[in-house]
Amino acid sequence: MIRLNNNFNKLQAGYLFIEIARRVSDHAAANPGHKLIKLGIGDVTRPLPPAIIKAFHEGVDDQADAAGFRGYGPEQGYAFLREAIAEADFVSRGCSISADDIFVSDGAKCDTGNFQELFAGDISIAVPDPVYPVYVDTNVMAGRTGEAKDGRYDGLIYLEGTENNGFVPSPADLPEDGADLVYLCFPNNPTGTTATRDQLGEWVEWALAQRSLILFDAAYEAFVTDPELPRSIYEIPGAEKCAVEFRSFSKTAGFTGTRCAYTIVPGAIEIDGVKLRDMWNRRHSTKFNGVSYPVQKAAAAVYSVEGKKETRELINYYLGNAKIIREAMNEVSYQTWGGVNSPYVWVKTGEDSWDTFDKLLKGADVVVTPGSGFGRMGEGFIRISAFNDRENVQEAIGRIVKAMG
Ligand SMILES: *Cc1c(COP(=O)(O)O)cnc(C)c1O
Repeated sequence: MIRLNNNFNKLQAGYLFIEIARRVSDHAAANPGHKLIKLGIGDVTRPLPPAIIKAFHEGVDDQADAAGFRGYGPEQGYAFLREAIAEADFVSRGCSISADDIFVSDGAKCDTGNFQELFAGDISIAVPDPVYPVYVDTNVMAGRTGEAKDGRYDGLIYLEGTENNGFVPSPADLPEDGADLVYLCFPNNPTGTTATRDQLGEWVEWALAQRSLILFDAAYEAFVTDPELPRSIYEIPGAEKCAVEFRSFSKTAGFTGTRCAYTIVPGAIEIDGVKLRDMWNRRHSTKFNGVSYPVQKAAAAVYSVEGKKETRELINYYLGNAKIIREAMNEVSYQTWGGVNSPYVWVKTGEDSWDTFDKLLKGADVVVTPGSGFGRMGEGFIRISAFNDRENVQEAIGRIVKAMG
């Protein structure tokens, strides 16, 4: 008799963005004619840059031509893309990462969600709070947690982000028994905070000493403009022995609808005498058949001279929005985090997150994200996203200031 994976029943109802969508559609139905501005879900709004579109078209044309046609490609990604990534993102920054360590995929969401498959069912896992929900929910589905109580799952370790640690937890925040696996994300979604070299260094030192593993989500690395801040965990010596890094073209180059990402599993990581890279390779090539050829051509163009310039302009555009949001919030005396080296501004409102959400939706026709949706520690905060057009951001900020001020 067929039976279900009951771990799914443990998942908390009302996934954050479903609840937001419900309240937004109720509001829109009750207020036809209002212009709603969304600074909520983290999706980009600007079109793909011209150099990338050109390469995308060329990739499509190759498929129309018998000589250029490609069928199944390598599951790990074409060498032209893996080599461009290795050189531009890692070798040029002094990281000991090669094309062999890079696995191209259709999303960092799937990769961060799938990677836990490689580990034993009873390892101890630490996640930040507030957190990108994918890390938590995929471990719940895999049966690594107990039931949820008051928004937290039994069996998970929560690394609390607070005003005191500036939303950058350290190994000192772990319980005495430590953790076998730690998820980190910098620049952070949702708080917009970044980790310094020293802060990441503490994590790497800890992981090497404990023989633990770090899963490092660097989806927003392109927003780092401060040269003192690391863009990759591999800028920390030793990280190539204890950290897997996830990256994506989604926020970097506007690929949220085009789909291309990559995961770095350094050949130097060995667990129980097995190279983790070989194991991920086995998993990836068994369950995945590669990203489409035109999309990989488009992604490779991100590293061309034109592509670099155009994606930099794209990032700067969003960073300009983030600055406007952050400064306006500070002006009306709200404390903020992020918004520099990050597209997200984390605002302390000091009242129930959903109350602020409703106030801004009803009073300003602006959608933000309630901080409590990312975990207990997000209560009293909202996340404002810089992913929108400049005029919309300016208009929304004017309305928010009026509604909150
Ligand atoms: C947007 C985002 C990703 C990227 O996901 P894709 O599947 O590559 O689009 C990964 N991690 C975080 C924290 C994100 O916010």
